[in-house]
This record gives sequence, C-alpha cells and structure tokens, in this order.
Amino acid sequence: MDLGGGVWSVPVPIPGNPLGYTLVYAVESPSGPVLVDAGWNHEDAWLALRDGLAAVGMDVRTVRGVVVTHHHPDHAGLAGRVREESGGWIAMHEADAALVRLIRGMDGATQRAFQAEMIRRAGGEPDAPGPTPSTGRPAPALDGADSSPTDGTGPGKEPGAAGPEPDRWERPDPPAAPDLELRDGDLVDVPGRRLRTVWTPGHTPGHICLHLEDAGRLFTGDHVLPGITPHIGLYPYDRDDVDPLGDFLASLDLVTGMPDVEALPAHEWAFPDAAARAAEIRDHHEQRLLRLHDLLAGLPAVTIWEVAEHMPWNRSWSDLGPQQRGMAAGEAAAHLRTLEARGLARRLPGAPGAPIRFTASRR
Ligand SMILES: [Zn+2]
Ligand SMILES: [Zn+2]
Repeated sequence: MDLGGGVWSVPVPIPGNPLGYTLVYAVESPSGPVLVDAGWNHEDAWLALRDGLAAVGMDVRTVRGVVVTHHHPDHAGLAGRVREESGGWIAMHEADAALVRLIRGMDGATQRAFQAEMIRRAGGEPDAPGPTPSTGRPAPALDGADSSPTDGTGPGKEPGAAGPEPDRWERPDPPAAPDLELRDGDLVDVPGRRLRTVWTPGHTPGHICLHLEDAGRLFTGDHVLPGITPHIGLYPYDRDDVDPLGDFLASLDLVTGMPDVEALPAHEWAFPDAAARAAEIRDHHEQRLLRLHDLLAGLPAVTIWEVAEHMPWNRSWSDLGPQQRGMAAGEAAAHLRTLEARGLARRLPGAPGAPIRFTASRR
C-alpha cells in the first residue's frame, strides 16, 4: 500500500498465527529502499514480501538494508534472506544484537535447562514452556505482540488469546546476525531521509521505534499498536536487577512526548496519534499494577505462578493452555518486578533453591 511520502507497506503473513501478518515498511531512497522489519521466515511470507515489493515497483534485490525493530521472528525472521538476495545490511539495536549472539551461540539443551530453572523458581508447572518469552527459539505464541492472555478491560484485547492455541508450531531459526548495531538517537543509513533510532526497551531489551523525522511518522514495531498491547514478560536470560515493565512504561512516556506523530505499527493498522495511544497503554498497565498490589495484599506469600492464577485474564485460568499459562506467568513476573522496584512488593526469604515467594509491602 502506498502511504505517501515515499513510504509503502507490505503485509507479510505469519503462517498459522492469529496475529495474521507483519506490516513490512519500505522507505524509498535513491540507492534502494530500506525496509523496516522483514517478516516471518517462511516461503509464503517470502513470496508475499518479494511480490508485494514488486507490485509497487521495487525489486527486493535492490534493497539497501533492513532495520529490524526487535529480534522476534515475525520481525527479524526474513532479514537474512533479504540480505542474501540484495547484499544489503541488517541493522538492529545493540541490546537485541547481543541477545541474537547469545541465542545463536547457545545449544538447545542449555536453553532448555535455563528455562526449566526459571519455571521452577517461578513455582511453575513442570511441563509448561516457561514464564518468560523464551530464550531464542520461541514458539510464536510466546513471541509477541500477539497472544498475551490479558484481561479484557484494558485498551486492547490480545487476539491470540481469543483464538485457539495452535498445537503445532514450526520452531523458527535464530535471527540473522546484524551488520550494524544501533544506539538511541542514531540516524539509520537512508540517503535523503532522516530516520532516527528511538530506543524503546520493554517488549524486548533492544526494541526500537524509528522516527521518520522529515515526515512526522513513527514506525512503532510492537511497542505501540492500535488495538492490542504487546506481551511484556521478563527478558530472556533474566536478571533480578532488570525491570522490563518499568522499561516499557518509560518507553511509552518517550512516545507520549512526541506530539503530532503518525504511528506505523508492525501489526494491525496505521493510526494518526501515537502519543495518545501510548498514554492509553501506560494507563492500562498502571491500573493492572494497582490491582495486583491489592491482590497481593489479600493473599499469603505466593509464587509467580500462583499470582498469575489469581490475576484476571480474558479467559479463565483453566481454559488457558500451557503456553498461554507460561505467558501469563511471564506477565505476572514482570508486574511483580515493577512492584518490587517501587517498594510495593518484596520477596520472602526461603530455603535455598525453593521457588521464590512474594508478599505486598507498603512504603
Ligand atoms: Zn510482532
Ligand atoms: Zn515482538
């Protein structure tokens, strides 16, 4: 679709995923288009991207580069194939680049052991896929903007939670290693345009939005979407001193501080006011934090898994599949972490190696 001003969008299907498609954007330049995200690595997706570009007069072999908003497979998956065809570069934020190196360097057994330990410490069910959005070869339902089983009262319902849980996923290949690493404020190499990196950690540690400053447009990736909210869990290879939801809220504030900017998100549809939607999503999470604090105050010392069981989701706990329970636990863990950072929850001392238990505290 021609969005005007030298920007096109191509919907690239995500096979078998209720989210449907990733919107890949092409920004025209005299030395070939630069893509924002690339889509899922699947033959159908590849054909949709190649033919979608051809339909607007662009040859994928002339792509100058792909800037990836974050390392998830529905965004970074096809970047490697585009690079092979075009000889262009792949750029992403340095924090997600570091994660991609970890993912590419870690064997499956180590990943599984890491996940199992996280689930155990969360007090989780042994055969569940885990409270975090995975360590690298994520099943799509753990990935994304997509299938967080949030409560239905916020600004957005998660479509993945509304659909059936897929029983078979193709495990994605790890993302291609980038050629260029971006930091907050960097200009992306698009001749004749001003495309600025805005570091918006939260959904992943290195998520970026890209501000097309000469056009008043913001490519928001999964950070700000019009009808759904992105999954916010713990980061892969979690450490106790990081607060992904706290990062996300601060990143939303960055966008609320950008007036008169049109949002071009990676899923759903473009919308006129990025700042207003960012504020709405922020309020949704603040409400959820308040309710979680109340909930904790009325419970005995609980594990992350028990917290997740008690939180409101848009379906009952018993209707959530193991993968969705894992995502719910990831969201619970992220919200608990933020309450801890604000002095509103604390961990109780326990036996070494036992699941961690939390309780409410008041400042
Ligand atoms: Zn996504
Ligand atoms: Zn994502």
